[in-house]
Amino acid sequence: MHILLNSLIGFSLKAVDGEIGRVHDFYFDDAAWTVRYLVVRTGGWFSGRMVLIPSTELGKPDWERHQFCVNLTCAQVKESPDIDTEKPVYRQQEIILHDYYQWLPYWKVGIGSTVGPVLPVQEISAETAEKESKAAGNPHLRSTRHIRGYYIHAEDGNIGHVDDYVADDKEWKLEYVVADTRNVFPGKKVMMQVKDISSVEWLDYSVHMNLKKEEVRNSPEFNAANLEFGKTSRYWIALPSRIRHNADCPYYHNTKTGYFSDEKEGTPCGKCGG
Ligand SMILES: [Zn+2]
Repeated sequence: MHILLNSLIGFSLKAVDGEIGRVHDFYFDDAAWTVRYLVVRTGGWFSGRMVLIPSTELGKPDWERHQFCVNLTCAQVKESPDIDTEKPVYRQQEIILHDYYQWLPYWKVGIGSTVGPVLPVQEISAETAEKESKAAGNPHLRSTRHIRGYYIHAEDGNIGHVDDYVADDKEWKLEYVVADTRNVFPGKKVMMQVKDISSVEWLDYSVHMNLKKEEVRNSPEFNAANLEFGKTSRYWIALPSRIRHNADCPYYHNTKTGYFSDEKEGTPCGKCGG
């Protein structure tokens, strides 16, 4: 199933013994374009701190309750190391965080082992990790919130700005950037494949595409039907009514709140049959 990242902002994170806080942002790795952490603003019981929770520790999003469950205690989160969420996060900081929780770091997971058991790998020091990260183009964690609003440049001119992201909900890989192109192609939001991004200029807030303006104009228009690239999202469950619409219905992804689903949940729509 595909998910729109912005639709998860504000979801609550439920630890085993209480609520940790709410989803504020996502950090993705700018080499693999994969969401690695949710940035969670903690609840009142420990002063509104921002903490990072790895995407690998999360259960499925519960769209009805607007929450994720995570296998941690509130005390563990409370005692977790401070991370400055105003800046890109470097591997050393991730190492401190993973050591604290004793999480298995995703960067040590053997290639090709994403579905099988995790391969044993050599322990690496922070210094080695930094060298490796430099060798791999120095990947950093970037904030999706920060990049929202970045200008998008086609090869022959500006075409709009970043509005949202489409990720798959299993590995949290970003597949599309949703671009708001309304100033150039009136009324249009398009989905551009992440693989067509040639570079992101973090200092001047811009995303550069390997595409001509005309190709951007011809990109799939953003609507739920366009999310059906092999991994289908057959239904749209409108909230709070929980009425189910199928992809042919004018209400499919056209109600103010709701979510995509592959399951026949909710009540079938009177118009489309759900
Ligand atoms: Zn319908």
